[in-house]
Amino acid sequence: MPHPNDPTLRSFIPVDPASDFPIQNLPYGVFSTAAMPAPRVGVAIGDYVLDLWQLAQDCRIDMVEPGVFAAPSLNPFMALGPNVWSRTRARISELLRHDHAELRDNEKLRQRALVPMADVKLHLPIAVAGYTDFYSSREHATNVGVMFRGKDNALQPNWLHMPIAYNGRASTVVVSGTTVRRPRGQLKPPGAEVPGFGPCKRLDFELEMGVVVGKPSVMGEMLTEQQAEEMIFGFVILNDWSARDIQQWEYVPLGPFQAKVFATSISPWIVTREALEPFCVPGPVQDPVPLPYLRQTRPHNYDLQLDVALRAAGMNEAATICRTSFKYMYWSSVQQLVHHASSGCAMNIGDLLGSGTISGPEKDQRGSLLEISWNGTEPVELPGGIKRTFLEDGDSLVMRGWCQGDGFRVGFGEVEGTIVG
Ligand code: MN
Repeated sequence: MPHPNDPTLRSFIPVDPASDFPIQNLPYGVFSTAAMPAPRVGVAIGDYVLDLWQLAQDCRIDMVEPGVFAAPSLNPFMALGPNVWSRTRARISELLRHDHAELRDNEKLRQRALVPMADVKLHLPIAVAGYTDFYSSREHATNVGVMFRGKDNALQPNWLHMPIAYNGRASTVVVSGTTVRRPRGQLKPPGAEVPGFGPCKRLDFELEMGVVVGKPSVMGEMLTEQQAEEMIFGFVILNDWSARDIQQWEYVPLGPFQAKVFATSISPWIVTREALEPFCVPGPVQDPVPLPYLRQTRPHNYDLQLDVALRAAGMNEAATICRTSFKYMYWSSVQQLVHHASSGCAMNIGDLLGSGTISGPEKDQRGSLLEISWNGTEPVELPGGIKRTFLEDGDSLVMRGWCQGDGFRVGFGEVEGTIVG
């Protein structure tokens, strides 16, 4: 049987070369329909969702109990472990192949199992156990450091020695399409003697990728590179909404708190680590060489293109404000996971790790408005003469990401969020 990543595979379902969801991808999500409102597990293929519960009911995926796919999250499926993830993906690939008759020629099953994407509602794909946000782009950390501490002290002394992070909130991780209420908080503008309480005036986004942990680790035990890699079920695009003015007043000495906990949006489809494997590339050279527990023996970065588009209130179409790549990240997701468990911290099924804002070396590769507008001093100019330094009510932000294969792309769809007052 050909490997599901084989670039020559074709599905009997027509897939546009510009689609995010060719047979080489097969990302997992949770969906419902008006006719069947119970959320269940599906896989995206072209303009369709393949209903895995229907296939399992029909005994087409024999390594997984149908009930696992009737769950409103992927956690029960992830709990079956990497071996089952891989075998299930291979089986789904086989069922969708143009030269495999089993589903292709079974009209009744096709009618039940293939749902037009336009008819589904997509839900949060995982029950988020914990959410941790890293800070692993050297370009982002440097930009922020230059703005707040000057060029000579841009990177903190610890930054090149370990992946820096804070613990975020799982309770407010939401799926693409969820509106985001402008946060309120303590604000102390420059010059003010005492803080006040009110709506955030410097609302920002952060372009990130999120790792979905699919396999737990044991409290008290460290992880090897190999173990950490095997625990990664897949990736989503993540928008770590940030209230810069709240952050600036509250972050000393324990780091961000209310500035980050009001909302984190993720894309609905989890692209598996296996599907991304062909796009692995080496990351930047790490100098100084990391401590032995953080060293990598093989590449764990991805050649994954990202863009961010802003449709400011009053605009008909979104305008691209950032184009960058996940490949620039200094610390890889595997290193983040190894470091996360290194003290003895247990990782759980459904843990979500934000990569940190992804910025590249060029000006148009900055992954936050804080950087794009250089702390509000250089407004971004949008079509129609509209300018923005930070997000206003009614603004809608869309992030997209994909890996370009030969004649197909392994994509993530999008994560969208609109700000309301
Ligand atoms: Mn962040």
